[in-house]
Amino acid sequence: MIGAMQQQLDFIAYIQRMLVEGDFSATYKFALLHALADVCVEQPLLSEQSQLVIELPTLADKLITLYWHHAMPFSSEHTGESALLKQNTGAQSKVISVLFECQQNNIRNFRQLKQSPFYKPTFNAAMATIKTGPLWRLQILAKQEECFLYPHTNSTQFITLNAGIASCFRRFYDLVVYLAKNAWLQKIQSIKHNQALIGPQSQLQEFLFGVDRNALTKAKPVLVELQSNTCFYCQKPMKNDVEVDHFIPFARYANDLGHNFVAAHRACNNNKRDFLAAQQHRERWQNQNLVVNSQIISNELSAYFHCDADKSLAVSNWAYQVAQANNAKLWLANKDHFEEAKLTADIVPFPQAKQPELNQVAEPAVSLKSSGNALKLPYFPNIKIACGHFKTGDESDMELMEAPLGAGKLDPQVHFLAHASGNSMNGGKHPIFDGDLLLLELITSDKAGSLRGQIVAIERDDIGGEGQYLLRKVNKLPNGQYELIAQNPDYEVMIADESMRTFARFKQVVAE
Ligand SMILES: [Zn+2]
Repeated sequence: MIGAMQQQLDFIAYIQRMLVEGDFSATYKFALLHALADVCVEQPLLSEQSQLVIELPTLADKLITLYWHHAMPFSSEHTGESALLKQNTGAQSKVISVLFECQQNNIRNFRQLKQSPFYKPTFNAAMATIKTGPLWRLQILAKQEECFLYPHTNSTQFITLNAGIASCFRRFYDLVVYLAKNAWLQKIQSIKHNQALIGPQSQLQEFLFGVDRNALTKAKPVLVELQSNTCFYCQKPMKNDVEVDHFIPFARYANDLGHNFVAAHRACNNNKRDFLAAQQHRERWQNQNLVVNSQIISNELSAYFHCDADKSLAVSNWAYQVAQANNAKLWLANKDHFEEAKLTADIVPFPQAKQPELNQVAEPAVSLKSSGNALKLPYFPNIKIACGHFKTGDESDMELMEAPLGAGKLDPQVHFLAHASGNSMNGGKHPIFDGDLLLLELITSDKAGSLRGQIVAIERDDIGGEGQYLLRKVNKLPNGQYELIAQNPDYEVMIADESMRTFARFKQVVAE
C-alpha cells in the first residue's frame, strides 16, 4: 500500500518534471502523453501493479484522432495550408499535412478515413512520427534519459508500461490530460506563425480540444427513437429541447464513443454539467446502450463515431472507480440533486430490473464421451473454482479437453473447463461437490445480460496480482449492492466489493 502511494507521488512528480524539463520543439510529446492516458482507461486492468503492453499501431490511431481537429483551417482569412495552425517551429508537421489532405478530399471523420485509401499513408506517417520522435524522447528530462513510464527497447511493435504505471494513469487521468492539453495549447500559442492566425479573441482551446457539435447531431435521431422520445434522465417526454449528452462527461474523457451518448432535455443536460450521473442512471445506461441496443448503436453510429461497447464499459467502470476513490458527488436530477459516490461493485455488469429472474441451478451432469473429431475446450488444471473461499489459480497452464456432449452449442473462445474445490455450493437441489468438473462460459459485456439469481464465477486479484476464483449465486440488494450467496448455509453471504469481477457463468457439472 505504502509502495503504491509512493509510486503515485513519484508519478505526479515525474509528469510535472517532464513538462518542465523536457524539450518540446513540437507538440507530439503532448499528444503521446494524452494517448497513453487514454489507452490506460480504455481497457480493464488486471491489478494495480499490472504492466500494460501497448501496441504502437494503437498509439498511431490515437495520434491521428488527437490531431484530426488540428488539421482543419483555423482562419477563414487564409487559404490552403497557411490557414492551419503549426505544431512546431519549423516546417508543418507531416501528420498535419497528410490529415489536411484527407480533409481536402472530403473525408469528414476518423471512421471515414479508416475505410478510405488515405488511411494507409496517414497511418504510416503517424507510425513513423511516433517511432522517430516522441516514443523515446518523451522520457528525456533535462537531456537525460529517465525511463520511469516504460523501458526503451528495440521493439518496433509495442511498449510495456512498467508495473503500476497504467494504474497511475487511470488514477490521475484528468490531471495528466489537463496538463498535457494546457502545455500543448501554450506551445501552439508560442509559435510565431500561429499568433497571426489566432488573433486576440481566440477560441483556440475550443477549436483544438472541443466537442464536435456537428457529429453529435447524427446521434440525436437514433437516441430519440430508442428512448421513445423521453429524456434519459427524468424520463419525461421531450419536445424541441433535445440535446445529446455524453453519459461519461466529455470533460472527464474527451473521446466520442458511440455507446456513450444519451438524449436528454437541454435543462437536464445543462444541470448535469461535468458530473458523473448517479448509480441508477449508470445501470439504466448500461442496460439501454450496452445490452438492449448495443448492436443498433454500432450499426447506426459507427460511420461517425468509434463504437466499442467493451471500451465504453471499461471507461465507465474506470470513471466510477475514480469518483468513488475521490468521494465525488454524483448527479441525480435537475435542480442540483446529488448523491455520494458509493462503493459499488462493477462485478455484475448490466443488471436488468425488468427481466424475469433466471432461477438457474446445476443441471444434471452430462457425460464427457469421446467421439471422432470432437470439439475441444480449454481446461485449466491449475485453476480451482472455489466453492468456499477464494482460491488462487494460475491460468498459464492450459490443456485441451473434449467438450461435453449435450451441453448445447459450445465455443472454445467462450467456454472452458475447471475443477471445483470446496463445499460451499454443496446444497440445494443440484449441489456442486468438491472436485466436480465445471463447464463455464466467459462473460463478455455484449453477452452479459442479467446475472441476477445466476451462479457465476467471480475473480478477485490477490495482493500478488494473481487471480482468485469463487463460485457464488448473485443477488442484488435494494441499496444497489450485490450479495454473493453460497448454497451451503454454513457459509456466510458476502457483499461484492470493487476488487471483484464476474468472469464466467456456471453452465453445468460435467461427468468425468
Ligand atoms: Zn429531462
